[in-house]
Amino acid sequence: MTKNLAAPRRTAGQPQAEADAEADAGPARPPGSAPTVVYIAGAGRSGSTLLERALGEMPGFVNVGELIDIFRRDAPRAERCGCGQPFAECPFWTGVGGRVFDHWDAAELAAVQRLKGRVARQRHLPRLLAMPLASRSFRTDVAAYGASYASLYRSIAAEAGASVVVDASKWPVQALALTRAGLDVRVIHLVRDVRGVAHSLNKRGVARPHALNEQGVMWTKRPVAAAFRWTSYQSQVELLALCGVPVARVRYEDFVHQPRRTVEQALTQLRLPLPGQLEHLGDGQVTLGPSHGIAGNPSRFRYGDITLRIDEAWRTEMSRGARIMVTAIGLPLLVRYRRRAARSRRAARSATKSNGGTPTEPAGDRSWPDVSVIVPTRGRPELVRESIAAVVGQTYPGNIECIVVHDQEPPDESLTVLGSAQHRVRVVANSHSPGLAGARNTGLDTARGDYIATCDDDDMWHPGKLKVQVARLLDEPGLLVIGSGMRLLLPGDKTLDWPGRTERISYQLLLRNRVKELHSSTLVMRRDAVTKVGPYDEGLPHGYAEDYDWVLRAARTGPVGMVTQPLADIRRNAGSWYQGSAERTAAGLEYMLAKHPDIAASRRGHARILGQIAFAHSSLGGRGLALRYAVRGLSRWPFVPHPYIALAHITVGMHPRYVQRAARLFRRDLA
Ligand SMILES: [Zn+2]
Repeated sequence: MTKNLAAPRRTAGQPQAEADAEADAGPARPPGSAPTVVYIAGAGRSGSTLLERALGEMPGFVNVGELIDIFRRDAPRAERCGCGQPFAECPFWTGVGGRVFDHWDAAELAAVQRLKGRVARQRHLPRLLAMPLASRSFRTDVAAYGASYASLYRSIAAEAGASVVVDASKWPVQALALTRAGLDVRVIHLVRDVRGVAHSLNKRGVARPHALNEQGVMWTKRPVAAAFRWTSYQSQVELLALCGVPVARVRYEDFVHQPRRTVEQALTQLRLPLPGQLEHLGDGQVTLGPSHGIAGNPSRFRYGDITLRIDEAWRTEMSRGARIMVTAIGLPLLVRYRRRAARSRRAARSATKSNGGTPTEPAGDRSWPDVSVIVPTRGRPELVRESIAAVVGQTYPGNIECIVVHDQEPPDESLTVLGSAQHRVRVVANSHSPGLAGARNTGLDTARGDYIATCDDDDMWHPGKLKVQVARLLDEPGLLVIGSGMRLLLPGDKTLDWPGRTERISYQLLLRNRVKELHSSTLVMRRDAVTKVGPYDEGLPHGYAEDYDWVLRAARTGPVGMVTQPLADIRRNAGSWYQGSAERTAAGLEYMLAKHPDIAASRRGHARILGQIAFAHSSLGGRGLALRYAVRGLSRWPFVPHPYIALAHITVGMHPRYVQRAARLFRRDLA
């Protein structure tokens, strides 16, 4: 047994983690090297036990049932484990208990359960969503709660020899609390038809074979209450995705029909490696051995070949009145999920094609068009050389001309020697108005290629980038522009993968969300796109958001695509001439709102921009103005973080570095 994997000893009743929590109670840090957690969230009675076991059967994975129940008084420690043994006699859980919580010491478990009451209850959801605003003691509690779970997950992984723990605890707020504490939690959102769930919850007298006294029955709920509960759960999981928690949605019906394909797609979406062995997952059938899942559905005691059948008893057994009520309550979400499922199936198909480790190789006999790459630069002679080298170093088989546009500085002819015969480098001076938009337009004027790509002077393309993106444009003649996922280089040598969220980016999505991965260093467009969309807007105050403006106009004109895999390194650790000052931000965003009235029509998009303007004004000291913008933002859409961050800045004047840290908690959603 590896001793150092065990949790530190602590006095009963006072979790060690409480003492370990950061002294300044800042945002929690990842506690140690906790394993990756695949967390199944959903409304219950949705087939989570089977899904959890199907995942746990894979090499490197271990499933543990509804782990959240382990801290409850008595149950499920007085119950049968999924292996059939009473919990107290199960060798697996005995082994885990030897590493953590002092052999399931009641006082230690109770302490965690008390912490749960302070952080992982539904009523704490708003505070978890707006963590930076939460009190210091709340943040300390969240950190302590996360640390307890990190020790538990670590011990489970060590005992099972696994690197991924599958936790079927279902509560969305629990997943958010653990994420906020810095754990690597990836969520599978399991959705079953609300009518099936409500009917199942209404069944009385279903035995709980895990109860040691053989007398227990599963809990029940009336159909209408069950439908409201279902809707509330789904909405909470939606919030998780908004906070940057990776979420893959799995429909119970899809899992039952095609367990293997469904699991593969979910893992791909969660960016987890696909284990080679998935033979236990067949068509409409799974082969499962005993596992050590606790709590959950009686189905965890069925071993061997299990034929999966959709339980649609509600169609015949549910009363007409109940059916109408339940359908009315759940239908809007159901319809939405069905539509999204169809879309994500399409996306996942092409993603599995293009994510097989190496970028998709198009047919060898293809004729590759000439590509012009525009690199605007100012005052960064060292960095721009790296960017140029990455462009010249592309595996792209066709011709590339890399056009370096010097903005407000003389062209540096020495850069041309970086080029090769097929991938040449040219330098020109910005002949338009000074600034990024003008520099980009100068590049457009002089570009000769059939395709045009842009790259900023501090970013670096991955070698296969252009080939993959041009291949996609050739395959999909309707696409005007294509972006790609990216890898952010953060201060302190940290990196953060920022994959593209979906294969197609709609205008509506862009109004709601900046879609950062449509970054000026990832875009490749047809020449045709430039003709249709027009040049960059040189009238934007101080050139702020000229790329967002262009992409918005492009998405309004025609389809915008995305290669989801990261294909460019984006520096977030170097200063830039073009970095936004608060003044430029406020003026630029107000200009954007005036220029694109559609943004204000999207509640979420409007709230995001109002929040950003509020923050900018607050940084400039204009508290009253900032407050008005923040409140307007919140009244438009209360679930985006930007107005809250602005409010935090207005009310407590947080140090910008702290705000940045807080902002990173919201990761994806922050433009
Ligand atoms: Zn067991």
